Amino acid sequence: MAPEIKYTKLFIDNEWVDAVSGKTFDTYNPHDGSVIATVAEGDEADINLAVAAAKRAFHRNSEWRLMDASQRWAILDKFADLVQRDSQYLAELECCNNGMLLSSAIMSLKYGVVENIRYLASLADKIQGDTIPLNGEVFAYTLKQPVGVCGLILPWNGPILLFVVKVVAALAAGCTVVVKPAEQTPLTALVLAALLQEAGVPAGVVNVVNGFGVGAGTALTHHPDVAKISFTGSLEVGKLIQQAAGANNLKRVTLELGGKSPLVIMDDADLNVAIPYAAFSIFSHQGQMCIAASRVYVQSRIYDKFVQGAVAMAKKRVIGNPTDPATEHGPQIDAEMFNKVMGYIESGKKDGAKVLTGGKRVGNTGYYIEPTVFVDVTDDMKIAKEEECLLLISPIEHNFHLTLLHMTSHLSVCPRSYGTSQIFGPVQCILKFDTLEEVIDRCNNTNYGLAAGIFTNDLNTALQFGKHAEVGKVWINTYLMMGPQAPSCGWKDSSIGIENGLQSVDAFLELKTVTINL
Ligand code: NAD
Repeated sequence: MAPEIKYTKLFIDNEWVDAVSGKTFDTYNPHDGSVIATVAEGDEADINLAVAAAKRAFHRNSEWRLMDASQRWAILDKFADLVQRDSQYLAELECCNNGMLLSSAIMSLKYGVVENIRYLASLADKIQGDTIPLNGEVFAYTLKQPVGVCGLILPWNGPILLFVVKVVAALAAGCTVVVKPAEQTPLTALVLAALLQEAGVPAGVVNVVNGFGVGAGTALTHHPDVAKISFTGSLEVGKLIQQAAGANNLKRVTLELGGKSPLVIMDDADLNVAIPYAAFSIFSHQGQMCIAASRVYVQSRIYDKFVQGAVAMAKKRVIGNPTDPATEHGPQIDAEMFNKVMGYIESGKKDGAKVLTGGKRVGNTGYYIEPTVFVDVTDDMKIAKEEECLLLISPIEHNFHLTLLHMTSHLSVCPRSYGTSQIFGPVQCILKFDTLEEVIDRCNNTNYGLAAGIFTNDLNTALQFGKHAEVGKVWINTYLMMGPQAPSCGWKDSSIGIENGLQSVDAFLELKTVTINL
């Protein structure tokens, strides 16, 4: 399968260019740690070139910004056609660089990604203002106009979908963009940029600069000509980005950060549905989802039955190469995340929680961890709450240079913490509760507020939970269900701003009020 890429350049002003410094880094396949490609490594000089190109493209006579909005929609819709055309190749690339199951990547491309592009593209010509009567002959009207050059900084856990959610919303609004993909997954953004060019997006509107957080990332967040930063990633880096965004000009920011999302199983729930959903909600993509249900609260009366079912679900997951259609459980992204997850498993055991299944590495190559179920978990254990700092180096040598580089990049700017604050791995923590009031308090007892779910057959219970959960997304008798039409946001430390839904394009618009005296 593997895509035939040996070396990739940066994409600036619709041209493929080397990094000014000539530096490169390797990108890996998490299945076996092998090098897939060598990637041009951008830093401040390259970001300067990319921002200059995006600024020229946003200029007063910009073809893109002043284009009839329905034409912008048509070009972005053509992009959706091209992504659909190349979906097999994109899925293979996502699979070998990110470890996503090929079957999931194909489904995500065919439905999620293409559907997202079409929806966001269709918002281009729905941007409207209001007319507001003031007094007598005086009235005001509002205009919504693109904010300018946007820096879009991506994580590694959903490289294609998250590229699309940010880039297409920004372009639909008429903005120009510089994209900084995660250093672990630099490849698909370049393919998508080439497809945008093929669809007819003019030069300079989309630029992709691969590189590291400290380097390309910091240069983008500090650049005075960048008007907006939209970032998805960890809370720690989100805080740094917010500081940087206020350091020069006052950049607008959207931050989509981490979570420690609870899933509640009431004793009236249909366990034939709830148990598989609970497994799906934590083990999909090996737990590497911001919205993963990492805390499962189970009501006492059904606790033993639930645990029995949860262990059976975890045990029967088929672990293997993500390219194999039979595989249900692939590798973690890299050595750093592998070590971090194994560190959490050790800390859970040390704190007195019991592993009923899993907890071990699988094989000797790649970054595979068994689906793991912990019981006897209490709210005060590290595995059940957010963490400040967990820096562990264990003996995986593959990718070690990159691991150190990545760690160093975090440590140099954020000495007390690095990486994500949730386990971000296939670790299901099961906790016991008695009453709805109690469990709502325990669910809310975290600085995160991304998502929560409940399984119950009682409407009042469901509505009470929906009302009192301090999160941006609540699922009732389902989990992970999302569509581009529904706004996605988080409360507390999980988010600033909204993605998806009608509001997604607003994130890239400025409002202007014009007052007229007739
Ligand atoms: P990360 O924060 O380590 O890195 C994200 C991006 O930021 C990368 O491109 C990285 O190079 C860049 N970066 C790092 N330091 C920087 C700096 N100082 N300045 C500018 N850029 C910098 O996150 P990650 O490990 O790649 O991704 C996993 C995290 O993303 C998890 O916490 C997960 O919860 C979160 N996430 C959130 C959502 C959401 O919608 N809320 C979706 C997906 C992932």
